[in-house]
Amino acid sequence: MPLLQKPLADLEQQSDFIRRHIGPGRPEIQAMLDTVGADSLDDLIQQTVPASILSEGLNVGEAQSEVDALAELKAVAAKNQVKRSFIGMGYYDTHTPHVILRNVLENPGWYTAYTPYQPEIAQGRLEAILNFQQTTIDLTGMELASASLLDEATAAAEAMALAKRVSKNKKCNAFYVADNVHPQTLDVIKTRAEMFGFELLTGPVVNAAEYDVFGALLQYPGTQGELHNIEEIIAALQANKAVVAVATDLLGLTLIKSPGELGADVVFGSAQRFGVPMGYGGPHAAFFATRDSYKRSLPGRIIGVSKDTRGRPALRMALQTREQHIRRDKANSNICTAQVLLANMASFYAVYHGPIGLQQIASRIHRLTQIFAAGLTAKGIKVVNDTFFDTITVAPNDKNAVVAAAQAMDMNLRIDQNGLVGVSFDETTTRTDVADLFTAFIGAEHGLDIAELDAQVQGTSSIPAELQRESEFLTHEVFNSYHSETEMLRYIKSLEDKDLALNHSMISLGSCTMKLNATAEMIPVTWPEFGQLHPFAPVEQAQGYKEMIDELSDWLIDITGYDALSMQPNSGAQGEYAGLLAIKRYHASRGDDHRNICLIPQSAHGTNPASAQMVSLKVVVVNCDADGNVDLVDLRNKAEEHSANLSCAMITYPSTHGVYEETVREICNIVHEHGGQVYMDGANMNAQVGITSPGLIGSDVSHLNLHKTFCIPHGGGGPGMGPIGVKAHLAPFLSSHSLVPLEAAGTNDDLGTNSAVSAAPWGSASILPISYMYIKMMGSAGLRRATEVAILSANYIAKELEGHYPILYKGNNDRVAHECIIDLRPLKEASGVTEMDVAKRLNDYGFHAPTMSFPVAGTLMIEPTESEAKVEIDRFIEAMVCIRQEIAKVESGEWDSIDNPLHNAPHTLDDIIDSEWNRSYSRELAAYPVEAVKRNKFWPTVNRIDDVYGDRNLVCSCPDLDSYRDE
Ligand SMILES: *Cc1c(COP(=O)(O)O)cnc(C)c1O
Repeated sequence: MPLLQKPLADLEQQSDFIRRHIGPGRPEIQAMLDTVGADSLDDLIQQTVPASILSEGLNVGEAQSEVDALAELKAVAAKNQVKRSFIGMGYYDTHTPHVILRNVLENPGWYTAYTPYQPEIAQGRLEAILNFQQTTIDLTGMELASASLLDEATAAAEAMALAKRVSKNKKCNAFYVADNVHPQTLDVIKTRAEMFGFELLTGPVVNAAEYDVFGALLQYPGTQGELHNIEEIIAALQANKAVVAVATDLLGLTLIKSPGELGADVVFGSAQRFGVPMGYGGPHAAFFATRDSYKRSLPGRIIGVSKDTRGRPALRMALQTREQHIRRDKANSNICTAQVLLANMASFYAVYHGPIGLQQIASRIHRLTQIFAAGLTAKGIKVVNDTFFDTITVAPNDKNAVVAAAQAMDMNLRIDQNGLVGVSFDETTTRTDVADLFTAFIGAEHGLDIAELDAQVQGTSSIPAELQRESEFLTHEVFNSYHSETEMLRYIKSLEDKDLALNHSMISLGSCTMKLNATAEMIPVTWPEFGQLHPFAPVEQAQGYKEMIDELSDWLIDITGYDALSMQPNSGAQGEYAGLLAIKRYHASRGDDHRNICLIPQSAHGTNPASAQMVSLKVVVVNCDADGNVDLVDLRNKAEEHSANLSCAMITYPSTHGVYEETVREICNIVHEHGGQVYMDGANMNAQVGITSPGLIGSDVSHLNLHKTFCIPHGGGGPGMGPIGVKAHLAPFLSSHSLVPLEAAGTNDDLGTNSAVSAAPWGSASILPISYMYIKMMGSAGLRRATEVAILSANYIAKELEGHYPILYKGNNDRVAHECIIDLRPLKEASGVTEMDVAKRLNDYGFHAPTMSFPVAGTLMIEPTESEAKVEIDRFIEAMVCIRQEIAKVESGEWDSIDNPLHNAPHTLDDIIDSEWNRSYSRELAAYPVEAVKRNKFWPTVNRIDDVYGDRNLVCSCPDLDSYRDE
């Protein structure tokens, strides 16, 4: 029947979104099924997934169209009340420059990229992150900075951990926290200190040096706004071998002497107010800086400068041997996904405004604060701190009346832990705001005149003279070049063009699930109703958030088969930490404090052992058998051996080897029999949703990577969200928050006083609409279909490639799960061609490499996801097959072992136009190895980068521009 003659109901039947999210259409699915030898998707699932774990399906409702889902979410969002925020506490309203909003935050060229593990096709975001490090270094006055941490409070916890690693006061186990740090910082530090077994001492800044401690945490300016000269305290602490960390405010540092100049060992804070919306708590980038001599102890990632094979400066991730994926339970931190997109935004903010612009913004904020303080003082209202940058704390006669009057005028003030009223100003504060605040504090008849007050404070500063900044910052050319919008637009675009993201071609990174990040999912993120809420605004004002988070939590509980959910962890690894913490608290509640053994299979992701070490569990490695499965005999033996002290096992399902292990239920049973809990890493949920679930299988707790399975984009290395689901018995041990007491979603249990794992109560709340929209637009049936097609696509690739490369592990009926591993080791043996050569050669074909050497060295792990169309998958297969033929030529001796396109990959335009092309293969073969590449060529901007040189000559700040000119 021709389309036009169909009744309306038929035409409207299907939610369009499902078929747009899922790449292959019906005919392609049929063709792929034919190739893999299955009758239907159902048949494939029966063949692949153990029958004993098949579930009955989901209960998350029917799929809705993009238009309907957006309209419904808009109505939910409207229940959030956006008020002017003067709460401060590390979160400030900001003007995101529109050129950054549209061209970075709302641009798939930036937000769909992956962590820059393949630096030759990631020079753009590497440069932006390097700018972030330079901004951090300059403003903090330190020598070395990292590429972002999750939030200010977790950065504080990392600072404490670093202090313990490097302090010469080895025997001491106590850490001092000044009582003027933000309360959420103390909250997160408490959790970490408890798990490490550190003694926490708190008290006034001035008493810090009176104790024997391995380290101390100070805040500058303090949470109430005051500015202490901490130079002598720092020196006194250091004289006692304590390492001193200082929390600070990046914008304030444009006017205030840097902590580095005052002698600090570590300086950290949040870069949120550099143009990143508050978003009800996140995501934002935390910055972290330290001394060069502590570089091997630095948590998280560092971007460094190296050189490529043409001798040009080229950027890459440096000193990766410190990171969790290499050092596992000896790693500095468990950080994997960080906050790259937000770090990039902050760095662009610094580039756009430049040193003078930033200082102007800060000066205006300071002036408004002075005016406000002067007005209050003139009216006899006590301002507690006479030194400040942007925050004053006030002791009004009737604080409740003041706060109520402010709220009636749509303004939120802070009521601090001492019952005083705090007021913080920011970039968006206006004269009208100040006048309105006078009304709230004094009454409409306050009679104060802003211009008069301005004249009165003219020529003064409330930053003590000895703490005023004199040193220069952001002198590098990049911060002094792009101040017109045209120039800025082109700078952003020039960097974007250097990077391969999902808007160019598929990124088949096994374990990372680089699926579609649909535009309709992304749109709500930048709605002001979600973007402009302060995380500590009264909860009545965030009813839209509450509704959205509750509904999303209910869906995720249904999908995981758990009973309760915590939305606090803001990355997968942070979820592991929160989950293990719940396990520890659970054991402790039963008097089983001694249970400290964590069984982890050999094949586990590096964050698993790294997280276990963060809660002081002892990792015992369980072997895998020849098929890549957990060796049940070894597991049983080790569980028995450690029975009395078994805390838990951490497993991944389907296994990191890409197989549905038949024995997974048995694994859970064995661990339970010995009194242990089962932590199931949820990174592979894309192979479970709608088909099985962790709860059904028998595990007790899992994190979900919302930035993998549930469509939050990877942002070039973050943000992410790692909520955890738990069985009911663990629900009372989920994290709460000292400022916003929480109950576990799915229960009515008050969590009471459990300390926090993240700075904000619901982690990076403002990206939750992405996962919400995804589930709403897919519905129960669509989600299951996505899983089925993800499994089909992986099996299709495995089938098409198995004649060319060995597929390392297979399960039932020779099926793989949602990813497959190809083994390059035999080829390497025979030809000398490495997995690195193959990865870089894929760039010439226009592809990002699959996951390299995880979970097995010398292999590639391919995960196509359900979103890739068959034509794209076929293009990838074609590339892999052609590369195999190229390897054969090296193997047979037809090509020299060095002078071949694999060894020299990736090829840049400079190679191709080089008048001295003297290679044994043609330029065309180098750059256009297959026909399809010509239509859409992606040029890597640098040649292969020298890793060893970069680590030996560590440079983590912006190189001099001269170094880019010809050698
Ligand atoms: C991605 C991943 C993690 C860590 O998640 P992050 O969000 O990057 O912290 C843990 N385990 C596995 C198997 C993963 O793939």
